[in-house]
Amino acid sequence: MPTPLADLAARIRLVQGDITRQPVAAIVNAANSSLLGGGGVDGAIHRAGGPQILEECRHLRERLYPSGLPMGQAVATTGGNLPAKYVIHTAGPVWHGGKQHEAEQLAACYQSCLKIASARQLDSVAFPGISTGIYGYPKAEAAAVAVREVRAFLSQHPVPATVTFVVFDDESRRLYEQALAGA
Ligand code: ADP
Repeated sequence: MPTPLADLAARIRLVQGDITRQPVAAIVNAANSSLLGGGGVDGAIHRAGGPQILEECRHLRERLYPSGLPMGQAVATTGGNLPAKYVIHTAGPVWHGGKQHEAEQLAACYQSCLKIASARQLDSVAFPGISTGIYGYPKAEAAAVAVREVRAFLSQHPVPATVTFVVFDDESRRLYEQALAGA
């Protein structure tokens, strides 16, 4: 039986702040396919989490992804010194105007991360706005994809029990509020 909308709403949170400070089981990193670190939220996560995360990323890169993590896929590492036990790294799409399957690829990122959380029985996951920084995905459209995909997954899976969207700026907060207000 699908989960009623009111129950779904109670499992989705919106927080304005720094994702590296979130007390959840796993935070998602808007990484790039190299898995070897970058700017934006990726840089912030590696800085706050310490060298253990990069160490694991290097091993994963060598063993499993010699040509990089494919776009839309995700992989978990330790959270190092973060409050979160795990970091789930995903490679989002670069925005090319919207006609190169960016929405499907972004949706795949959310699904891949949630599948890992579910398989590992992780109770709580926090997402940044994947692709909405350096990768240039329009924030309103990205928020709509994020909310749609998380709702779809949670309506079919009891774990993760809660998902938190973490936004940095006021504009993103408003856009998520609007996306979450829509059915
Ligand atoms: P991408 O390369 O996928 O576009 P960015 O890291 O450039 O990733 O940005 C993704 C989103 O994360 C942006 O909306 C940015 O404002 C936000 N962001 C950057 N740092 C943090 C942080 N410490 N906590 C939460 N969100 C962040």
